[in-house]
Amino acid sequence: MPDAVRFGFVSFSTAARGPLVVFCDDALKLGTATRKALGGAVDLVKRAAAANRFKGKLGAALDILAPEGLRADRLIVIGVGKAADLAERDLLKLGGVAAGKIGKGNRAATVVAELPAAAMTPAEAASLALGMQLRAYRFDRYKTKKKDDDDGATRTEIAVAVKDTAAARKAFAPQGHVGDGVLLARELVNEPPNVLSPVEFARRASLLRKLGVKVEVLDVKAMTKLKMGALLGVGQGSTQPSRTVIMRWNGGRRGAAPIAFVGKGVCFDTGGISIKPAGNMEEMKGDMGGAACVVGLMHALAARKARVNVVGAIGIVENMPDGNAQRPGDIVTSMSGQTIEIINTDAEGRLVLADVLWYVAKKCKPQFMVDLATLTGAIMVALGTEYAGMFSNNDQLAERLTEAGQATGERVWRMPLAPEYDKLIDSQFADMKNTGGRHGGSITAAQFLQRFVDGTPWAHLDIAGTAMGAPKTDINQSWGSGYGVRLLDRLVARHYEVGR
Ligand code: MN
Ligand code: ZN
Repeated sequence: MPDAVRFGFVSFSTAARGPLVVFCDDALKLGTATRKALGGAVDLVKRAAAANRFKGKLGAALDILAPEGLRADRLIVIGVGKAADLAERDLLKLGGVAAGKIGKGNRAATVVAELPAAAMTPAEAASLALGMQLRAYRFDRYKTKKKDDDDGATRTEIAVAVKDTAAARKAFAPQGHVGDGVLLARELVNEPPNVLSPVEFARRASLLRKLGVKVEVLDVKAMTKLKMGALLGVGQGSTQPSRTVIMRWNGGRRGAAPIAFVGKGVCFDTGGISIKPAGNMEEMKGDMGGAACVVGLMHALAARKARVNVVGAIGIVENMPDGNAQRPGDIVTSMSGQTIEIINTDAEGRLVLADVLWYVAKKCKPQFMVDLATLTGAIMVALGTEYAGMFSNNDQLAERLTEAGQATGERVWRMPLAPEYDKLIDSQFADMKNTGGRHGGSITAAQFLQRFVDGTPWAHLDIAGTAMGAPKTDINQSWGSGYGVRLLDRLVARHYEVGR
């Protein structure tokens, strides 16, 4: 696990080490503990703010070097805007800005978790710390040369000064595990495809056993026996054998029906015989972002000992052109028995998901399934990189996902399903074909998946625009975003845990 930053909660009175970060509102008002920490430097903040036209807007920062009257070598004042109406995602943002300003190459830093009117609540301090954790992540394993601004410190220790350290630690503990899950998902997406083959991906998912997750790996022989012809057809052109991984976390009532998350894991997608153009093809290493999210989510749920039974299932393959690759025109038989005419071998994700969804619906009988997939370019045409596309056969599940998206900032936008769209994937030679033409491409992909959920309450999240390559934010500077881990952890915590 990447571990660039470590947190400790300390009390307000603890002497600051390294850069000192404090918060003010849009009237430049500082809290009591903050003023105490600043001592003689309080007036300096006013003067520096005027000189820099700093108005204390949410996320704006004032960086004061060698502040007189302070032991800290840098004083960083971050605006919170109107302190009265800060949402959870605002605190994440503030944490992100703080970690960004502290930067790398500092061994220690202190952040005073106080708003002008009052100390941050334990929940607020926990969100602030999570924002720092998410911002501090970097993927530089393959860079052998140090940058100028890197003093060789591998880890920054951030002391978050709070009113009640025990309460803050307690509030942050589950959040920190969720943060670790996000970073794990990012790490998997960022890894190059010559390292993260399907076999290696399955090995990394198996590491969840350390947290008490039961992990079952289905190899090609096992999947052949299960007749997963749709998934196996995608992987047959690759020298890397395909895998399906079933992860189970049983933290709920014994025997209670699980909830299930299913991920598309195409470790590299050339498009197969329907090969993609060369431009940006390297980004297709991220075509396993759905599976990465499911692994990150299982990490989060198991590490924080979520009181729920969960199945995480990922289909992992590599889609390559080869003498043995599947062709347009091929007809494959899925595990469900339904036959599929291959029109375009680049519409492979839905073939992988078809068999994994069917497997989970039949073998695990879940309360619901949510699948995540970097499925279509068309979803980016529709929604850009801000919202994931959501398709669902169940209004309650869709509403809960929408609400969890608003709370966490990992937003989803519901798109339609309808029999008229479903007709577009009827085939003249088989039960269906794997593409429905250019128009409504994300919708026909979802209609295809719906034919494999067997009536189970289900939602499909098309994360092609949000899982990788989205614009950098205050809480994510990484190409792989880890999108979906916080969203689905929230869905679970809010609605599906025992005793909630
Ligand atoms: Mn494809
Ligand atoms: Zn794909």
